[in-house]
Amino acid sequence: MRIAVFGTKGYDRRFLNAANAAHGYELVFLEPRLDPTTVSLAAGCRAVCVFVNDRADAGVLGALASLGVRLVALRCAGFNNVDLVAAERLGIDVVRVPAYSPHAVAEFTIGLMLAVDRHIPRAWSRVRDNNFALDGLIGRNLHGRTVGVVGTGKIGALVARSLKAGFGCTVLASDVVVDPELEAIGVRYVPCETLLTEAEVVTLHCPLTPETRHLIDAAAIERAREGLLIVNTSRGALIDTGALIDGLKSHKIGGVALDVYEQEADLFFEDLSNEIVGDDVFQRLLTFPNVLVTGHQAFLTEEALTAIAETTLASVSDAEAGRPLANRVGTERVAG
Ligand code: NAD
Repeated sequence: MRIAVFGTKGYDRRFLNAANAAHGYELVFLEPRLDPTTVSLAAGCRAVCVFVNDRADAGVLGALASLGVRLVALRCAGFNNVDLVAAERLGIDVVRVPAYSPHAVAEFTIGLMLAVDRHIPRAWSRVRDNNFALDGLIGRNLHGRTVGVVGTGKIGALVARSLKAGFGCTVLASDVVVDPELEAIGVRYVPCETLLTEAEVVTLHCPLTPETRHLIDAAAIERAREGLLIVNTSRGALIDTGALIDGLKSHKIGGVALDVYEQEADLFFEDLSNEIVGDDVFQRLLTFPNVLVTGHQAFLTEEALTAIAETTLASVSDAEAGRPLANRVGTERVAG
């Protein structure tokens, strides 16, 4: 079977080729993202493999169906870029990788927290310039601090556990579901508003829903503790970036580490170092000495990429053999 792999990066090629040793599919690696102008590249393929910024709307899916494509395999967990209703109408199955390595994201979150709090990127750039002065690099111990974890699912639970058992933080959590194992080690569940008021550090691990959109807004920042440190490796739109910038300018917010950004689809995963970036909000964010931004790389470990590639091709194999699709995303998910 031929599979068109859209938006291919070098690492996709490497890990999909390795996983394909067990299957022997013909993988057609394509650099462009899937959109109305590139969809014809899937001619002759029964499946397409796509990522977070590929566009599988009704028009693109219609074109894929007329080319004979029967499967859209997302090599990620999120599926907001696929019109599931149109896919179902057109008889195209959609599969995803629901969990690949929560450890990858949890560990990166702790890394970001320490890096921004202890000024590690600034220290490194100083040392490279033979500037060994320490002024401006004073951090805080994590031990004994109150950290709020919003969302204690697969990733948030690992972060909460590490902060509580490893670093000796006081850990507050908020979630619609309480994890008794976290409670047993002393994590205290509180309403989200209480968490955002009491925490010295807040780390976000809930999904983006209408309810959680702009969870951190001007009002939340107003109520927060002076010098609040915010870490977001979940979804950019959990934070109102304009309010965040105001909070940084007023010194209410003491530090920010982001792996995700509201308008990241226009920026992330591409080398724009020769371009003029037109996003003034993002550019302003980069000017603060206490802000650290990475380009949606928390998932990027050998283990996670191996799991993504293996799960994706296993789903293709199930579809080809007519077996039930364990990772199928159906229209029942549209409402959520
Ligand atoms: P998960 O589904 O296991 O956990 C999410 C948790 O959030 C659940 O416990 C859920 O009950 C809770 N939740 C739902 N609504 C909530 C609300 N209103 N308030 C508080 N909690 C709420 O998901 P996960 O695998 O732990 O992923 C968490 C987030 O990390 C997702 O948004 C995911 O997209 C993101 N993620 C980012 C990267 C990256 O590379 N940066 C990689 C993978 C996942």
